[in-house]
Amino acid sequence: MKKEQLYSGKAKTIYKTEDPEKLISEFRDSLTAFDGKKKSEAKNKGYFNAQISKKIFEMLEDEGIPTHYISMVSDNEMLVRAVEIILIEVIPRNIAAGSITRKYPIKEGTVFKTPVLVMDYKSDEHGDPMINEDIAVAMGIATYEEIAQIRTMALKVNDILVKYLDKKGFLLPDFKLEFGRVDGKIVVADEISCDTCRLWDKSTGQSMDKDIFRFDKGDLSKAYEEVARRIVPEIFE
Ligand code: UDP
Repeated sequence: MKKEQLYSGKAKTIYKTEDPEKLISEFRDSLTAFDGKKKSEAKNKGYFNAQISKKIFEMLEDEGIPTHYISMVSDNEMLVRAVEIILIEVIPRNIAAGSITRKYPIKEGTVFKTPVLVMDYKSDEHGDPMINEDIAVAMGIATYEEIAQIRTMALKVNDILVKYLDKKGFLLPDFKLEFGRVDGKIVVADEISCDTCRLWDKSTGQSMDKDIFRFDKGDLSKAYEEVARRIVPEIFE
């Protein structure tokens, strides 16, 4: 099923399959932060993130949001539709944390009355600078129509996820989405996991995401396992 490697990123490796319309996304245990300057590994991280991502993609599909997810081929490998990735990191923000508190006079923990949607150009070489629709169109990475659709989809995903995660005992300060084109449609791609979301425990306020690694806040594998226990309890049965 799995053929040659197509691409290896910081936390996932993408493989070709016999079907050119399908790829395999392998979630690895490796971790990086600060543009790859800080590196480590965490036991079972790939497994927990793959399972969390799978569950969230299935839930979004049930809610009418198309994603690239097809099925799981192993504990940490996902069969996905081959899409043309749009080079924009779309970040819905509900509570201020991370870069928005460093770049603007906005205090960490500020609850936004309406979600704040940030778009960054996905380019390590350029340091993922913030962009707007005019810059995206000028670079030729998306059309105005696509960006309008991406905004609408991102806000809908945010709405669904906030409610879903609230029931599991989490706050969702922010998260990163990527979108791809396939068959003339825009779909949610990449992953939605503890590596790409800020998740705060509702009762303790503790980070249960990659901030544990970024800021040495404790045992990352344990926290990801707890997130998995709440989102995919069936894998622990
Ligand atoms: N994020 C991500 N990949 C990136 C950059 C950000 O998944 O390359 C996620 C990050 O985990 C957080 C959200 O996007 O949930 C917002 O990140 P932010 O801009 O605050 O940057 P950071 O503080 O992580 O440097």
